[in-house]
Amino acid sequence: MISKIIEHNLVREIERQINENERFVIVSHVGPDGDAIGSALAMSHFLLTLCKQTTVIVPNAFPSYYQWLPGSDKILIYENNKELADKKLSEAQVIFVMDLNERRRMNILANAVVDSPAIKIMIDHHLFPDEFAKIIVSYPQIASTSELVFHLICQMGNFSDINLPCAECIFTGMMTDTGGFSYNSNSKDIYEIISELINIGIDKDDIYRKVYNNYSENRMRLTGYAMYRKLKLYPKYHTALITLTRRELEQFNYGTGDAEGLVNLPLSIEGIIFSVFMREESDKIKLSLRSQGTFECNKYAREVFRGGGHINASGGESYKGMQKTILKFEESLPKYEQMLKNSV
Ligand code: 5GP
Ligand code: MN
Repeated sequence: MISKIIEHNLVREIERQINENERFVIVSHVGPDGDAIGSALAMSHFLLTLCKQTTVIVPNAFPSYYQWLPGSDKILIYENNKELADKKLSEAQVIFVMDLNERRRMNILANAVVDSPAIKIMIDHHLFPDEFAKIIVSYPQIASTSELVFHLICQMGNFSDINLPCAECIFTGMMTDTGGFSYNSNSKDIYEIISELINIGIDKDDIYRKVYNNYSENRMRLTGYAMYRKLKLYPKYHTALITLTRRELEQFNYGTGDAEGLVNLPLSIEGIIFSVFMREESDKIKLSLRSQGTFECNKYAREVFRGGGHINASGGESYKGMQKTILKFEESLPKYEQMLKNSV
């Protein structure tokens, strides 16, 4: 039996909003990942089965290996479609805010969402949700927002409205936020849900192939370069660092998503339990952090790089340039030495 994890009153309130309204917009976070796109599209497929008008909007482009997801061709990229997206947002009656906890994560989309008269419903699994949404479905113990979408639809009594496209989107988000069910994935509900999704008709193996075995040659060579040339280990701290500058990325014709998953690789090295990846963007350094065991990389991200996320997967930003960011990182490690040791 799949647990009823979402509070009864929240489910009833969302049900009421869906029944009473017609125009829905669904938004998600900057640098959309599989769970952002998966949960947003799953919600949109569900609303479409109820004959509602829905538009999915994300701040910027998502990786090409999610372009097979049903409905992804209709997603509005705010950066490229500001006018239409603003119109949809201002006309919406309800805005679902998926897979993000603070307005900052919506980046250039944030003001248009917050200023819209629509009722905002946040569905998310990050700690410390911001209060801008009227209805907040926040369950940080759940591995993915896509899993939450499944729970929500089921608890509304609409399981039979989960069609194949919706199921494929839910599975993709569940799979990518757990690294293909390799971390944060010990809950039995996950496998009961997958079993239901397979009943609906998803081809689990095919989805895995489309997402993970779909590298361009450049992306594979960039991975090799990062591992061979740019990986630095700090054995005393059980820590690894990879850095890539814009110039290096350009050499490999970098496209959105090409560095996804790089940060996980050093965790395969014996004794490494904390991995940090710094990628230079036009205006900042974007950090991805991963840990194994009890070391809370979200706490580290919050304290050192104004970031956040989950215990074992988090992110942050730095506006100091690459060299100073590396220095700040190296200088921060001694403070965390004991916590890192305890996690090995
Ligand atoms: P990724 O490394 O895949 O970009 O992000 C991993 C996790 O960290 C995601 O769940 C995301 O929500 C969180 N995250 C990434 N970047 C940031 C950031 O700049 N601020 C906060 N608060 N969380 C972030
Ligand atoms: Mn997520």
